[in-house]
Amino acid sequence: MTNFDYDFFVIGGGSGGVRAGRLIAGLGKRVGIAEEYRWGGTCVIRGCVPKKLMVYASTFSEEFEAAEGFGWTVGDTSFDWKTLIANKDAEIARLEGLYQKGLDSNGADIIDSRAELRGPHEIYLKALDKTVTAEKILVAVGGTPTRDAGVEGSEFCITSDEVFHLEELPEEIVIAGGGYIAVEFAGIFAGLGSKVTLIYRGEEILRGFDGDLRSLLHEEMEARGISVICGEVFTKIEKQATGKLIAHTSGGNELSADQVMLAIGRGPATDCLGLESAGVETDARGFIKVDAYSKTSVDHIWAVGDVTNRVALTPVAIHESMCLIETEFKNNPTKPDHDLIATAVFSQPEIGTIGLGEEAAAERYTELEVYRAHFRPMKNTLSGATDKMLMKIIVDAKTDKVVGLHVMGHAAGEMAQSLGVAIKMGATKADFDRTMAVHPTAAEELVTMYSPSYRVVNGERV
Ligand code: NDP
Repeated sequence: MTNFDYDFFVIGGGSGGVRAGRLIAGLGKRVGIAEEYRWGGTCVIRGCVPKKLMVYASTFSEEFEAAEGFGWTVGDTSFDWKTLIANKDAEIARLEGLYQKGLDSNGADIIDSRAELRGPHEIYLKALDKTVTAEKILVAVGGTPTRDAGVEGSEFCITSDEVFHLEELPEEIVIAGGGYIAVEFAGIFAGLGSKVTLIYRGEEILRGFDGDLRSLLHEEMEARGISVICGEVFTKIEKQATGKLIAHTSGGNELSADQVMLAIGRGPATDCLGLESAGVETDARGFIKVDAYSKTSVDHIWAVGDVTNRVALTPVAIHESMCLIETEFKNNPTKPDHDLIATAVFSQPEIGTIGLGEEAAAERYTELEVYRAHFRPMKNTLSGATDKMLMKIIVDAKTDKVVGLHVMGHAAGEMAQSLGVAIKMGATKADFDRTMAVHPTAAEELVTMYSPSYRVVNGERV
């Protein structure tokens, strides 16, 4: 027993913080955990979970259309935004309760308060106006959306923090950004019936992803009625007397909208956190610097998740916490493994991806074999839908190892999760070839592409 109030204190009740708090309390340690907003953090409260529920809601419009080809007559349909939001809120409240219950049943002290560091072992709890002490501390405060597009009128824009609680479904929405959040919400609003414009500053959306995925998603989004404008940024957002917004762009567009959403990245929530009082170092953008074990510049203080500049994904934050517990509490030094992370973009169509895109792989490997199938999935034969699936396997020709796997289409995220195991284990193309197909599925294409579609040698397609 130490003289500190707690053995371990967690600042932030999101995915990374709650996992650490719950499991460390379960080890019999005296754990305190503080959260200033709601338990579950960005992922549960205003991120992955409510977003996915909204993706489900938005895909019904397509399903109603598809149903006819299968003999169904779907009568008049209508969508009620308020019902969706209320049902979504009830589910989020249920999940938040489960997060609290998990902490409580393991004996963690749950504190509904903003917490700030006041020294190496001192934590100030604002709601209680009290300072407590802890032997070890974890900072897991996550991030916040970038709110300023750097132009006049940015204050009229919403971000992913507000989008889940709009009073009405916008008739017209303009979304800025070309990353995960921008393409996902473009699909959600288009599916729910809004007129959507996406404006992205670069040449093509989803920078960093495989080039085929980027251009095909762009095409598919346009086929769904989304206007995708690349190479432009906002120059001004103007609010009219009617309440309508006009987004002026560098290309001379004047886009009318009920809502303008900024999805232009996220930054660390480290403002006024008192990090300097404890000696915790940050980088130029405010992210907490950590070593390979998530330890900060202070020996007894760790940081996990989006507050560190590693990979901003929920499962990564959880994994980082699990490794910290192994290292610090189980005498088993374990570094989080950030290599080959399978991920999904819940765009419409969905993307699932693991490893390197073709362009990135071509920079790393002298010779690649690329297996590519772009085909109409069986469901779309009767449904009449025109969208095609993309499946792409990128293989290092020298070792036969699969270095990238990319899917666009129905259940792509589910495929990425399952295949992520094989690829993490170092699967070769020969392993794919000797795997029997599951028939009839779309995914069987991944084990039946026997000859390369093309090769890439020294960066050139041959
Ligand atoms: P991203 O980093 O994915 O994308 C940000 C986008 O905004 C990029 O297209 C970027 O352009 C653009 N951008 C950045 N600054 C500006 C600016 N000043 N003006 C105009 N455009 C700008 O961030 P998101 O906000 O979409 O998402 C944040 C993170 O959350 C993601 O990185 C991801 O890790 C996570 N996330 C994961 C999801 C999932 O797993 N399905 C879903 C949602 C979020 P450029 O490419 O040129 O830099």
